[in-house]
Amino acid sequence: MKLVDLHADIGYDVLQKKKEGYRDILKKFHVPKWQAGGIDTVCMASFFDGHETWEDMQEMILALKEEIASCEEIVLVRKKEDFSSPYIKAVLSVEGMCGIREQEETRIDWLHEQGIALASLTWNDENYLATGVKGDPNRGISEAGIRAVRRMEKHHMIIDVSHANEKSFWDIMEHTRGMVIATHSNARELCHHVRNLWDEQLSAIAKRGGVIGAVAAPWFIHENEEYWDAAHMAEHTCYVQDRIGVEHASFGFDFMDFFTGYEEAYVKGLKDASQAQNIVHELRKISISDTDLEKICYKNAIKILKTAFN
Ligand SMILES: [Zn+2]
Repeated sequence: MKLVDLHADIGYDVLQKKKEGYRDILKKFHVPKWQAGGIDTVCMASFFDGHETWEDMQEMILALKEEIASCEEIVLVRKKEDFSSPYIKAVLSVEGMCGIREQEETRIDWLHEQGIALASLTWNDENYLATGVKGDPNRGISEAGIRAVRRMEKHHMIIDVSHANEKSFWDIMEHTRGMVIATHSNARELCHHVRNLWDEQLSAIAKRGGVIGAVAAPWFIHENEEYWDAAHMAEHTCYVQDRIGVEHASFGFDFMDFFTGYEEAYVKGLKDASQAQNIVHELRKISISDTDLEKICYKNAIKILKTAFN
C-alpha cells in the first residue's frame, strides 16, 4: 500500500551530512528506505529547535532543495499535478520558525516562494511567534504569531500544530481560518504525553477538515516501553478514526534512525522508513476495509497537501 509520511526531518539530516562531506545524501541514505517501505510522498521538514537564526533557516531549506534537485528519484512538489508523478514526491515543510524574529510577513513570503507547503510556528521551544509544549503554559501565540498565521493562510500554507502548547493551539484556531493539521501527534487519551492531543483538539482539527498524522516515536505511543510496537501505534490510528472519522487519520512517522543518540529509541517493527508497511499489516489485522486503509495511508494526506497548492 502506498504511504504518505507527513513528517520526516530530512532537511536537518541533509544539512548535517552535507557538513560532514557527504554527497548524494537522499539517494544514498533515504531513497532506498522509502522505496522499501512503499513511501510515495514525504513531507521533508527543515527542523529548528529554537536557537537558529533566519540565515540558518535559509541555509537548511536551500541545502535540502539542492539535494532534491540533484536526485533523479525525487520530484519537488510545486503544483497539484506534481502529486501524479511516478517519482517520490517531496513536499517542503518547516518545523519551528524560531529564526523569524522580525519581518514575519516578508519571511513567510520567502518560505512560500521556496515552496514550503506547511509549517509550524514552534518546535517545543518558546519563540517570537508562539509557544511550544515545553514553554510557558500560559503563553500562546504573539501578535507577530497572529500576523504569521494570517500570512500563511493568505498563501494557503498549512499550519502544523504538532508542537504547539495548548494555548498556542487554541490561539491558532481562533486567529486563522487556514488549514490546520497535526503532522506527527498521537491521542493523549491513549498515551499521556504532552505532544499528544486531547479529544477536543482532535475534534477541532477535524472540524477544519484537517488530519492527524500518527507518529511512530516510541514515547508518543505508550507510557510502558513493552508496548513500543506497531500494534500499539495502530491503536492510535483506530482511536482517531473512531473519534473524529477516517477522513482525518494519516501518518507522520517521524522516523529517527538518522539522528545520533536515538539508536535505542524506536518502535518495534517500525525502526525506519523501510519498515513502514508494518503499520499497514497491523491495521489490516484489525480488519479495516481497503477503502478506509487507502484513505489513512495516502488519500487523506494528499487531499490536504493539495490545498497548499491552490
Ligand atoms: Zn517534531
